[in-house]
Amino acid sequence: MMTEKNWLEKMNLSHPLVIAGPCSAETEEQVLKIAKDLAKTDATVFRAGVWKPRTRPGNFEGIGALALPWLQRVKKETGLLTAVEVANANHVKLALEHDIDILWIGARTTVNPFAVQEIADALQNTDKIVLVKNPINPDLELWIGAIERIQKANIKNVGAIHRGFSTYQKTKYRNNPNWQIAIDFKNRLPEVPLINDPSHICGNREGILGVSQMALDLQFDGLMIETHFDPDNAWSDAKQQITPKRLQEITEELKIRKSNFEKETARKKLEVLRNDINEIDTALIQMLANRMKISKQIGEAKKDKNVAILQPDRWKELLEERIQKGKDFGLSPDFMGKIYKTIHQESIKIQEDIINE
Ligand code: PEP
Ligand code: MN
Repeated sequence: MMTEKNWLEKMNLSHPLVIAGPCSAETEEQVLKIAKDLAKTDATVFRAGVWKPRTRPGNFEGIGALALPWLQRVKKETGLLTAVEVANANHVKLALEHDIDILWIGARTTVNPFAVQEIADALQNTDKIVLVKNPINPDLELWIGAIERIQKANIKNVGAIHRGFSTYQKTKYRNNPNWQIAIDFKNRLPEVPLINDPSHICGNREGILGVSQMALDLQFDGLMIETHFDPDNAWSDAKQQITPKRLQEITEELKIRKSNFEKETARKKLEVLRNDINEIDTALIQMLANRMKISKQIGEAKKDKNVAILQPDRWKELLEERIQKGKDFGLSPDFMGKIYKTIHQESIKIQEDIINE
């Protein structure tokens, strides 16, 4: 049965939920100053990372449990709810001991069912709000699986955060939004409030307004935006943080659209699909360029050993194999043949240029 959006509805907000605050808690003064500025904005929840998952060692890894009393002060002095990231049972224990209101599971944790289960067990029966960020890889099942683990631990107040997905290719995003996954998420779990995190999607300040607007247009229930009074000097994610003042400008500028204006929905749907196509094409072009680079290296090797460019057996085998692979994915043999002949021709041309250098 449909459960209503309990925890979010209870907040009784007249606008989408805004969660804001620094990537990391740095000092007690920093935390309180940001929180006091945020108390004057549309933000309802104050976020701050206390344990920071960093890609490589040697960066600031968070203040740790020492920062939890600072968050208690935030709540007492500003009335903002507080939120931290938890990645293991010990984090959960400490966060609960300090009466943190919202615990979120980070993208690097959601990928690991062992870790998620450990957190779910530690949270068993809690009334706290638990938000689950999407895993770093574009895997809807893994995201939903993590939410199910939390729900199975008899936790009612659950939500999700869409923070985009890692790709090897460089794009204009730090993490590709892959909007279609968020739309599929909403279809699969309509009762789970979905919050967008434009900060980690963009990785810069400039994109935040646009991504936030897109999220609202897709009927997300809220936004989580990293905020710092001195973004340039933040100890982590400096490039993407914005000031509380800028946050307020953004929330004022955002248009909250009606949920059922058919034409608008259709237009947005088209925009999402086009966005997806653009992202796929960028990846395709980068892949083609990488493939041609390898052809060049093969050309060099052939030149070195005085070997002929065209190796008919290899080409015949490759073409057949690719056509078969295409068929497995529902692509016609005619289409695959044309594409691969064009790619092969370009590859031969590149190798010819090298041999005749
Ligand atoms: C964060 O919110 O600061 C964070 C580490 O996010 P993510 O897990 O999405 O990378
Ligand atoms: Mn961050």
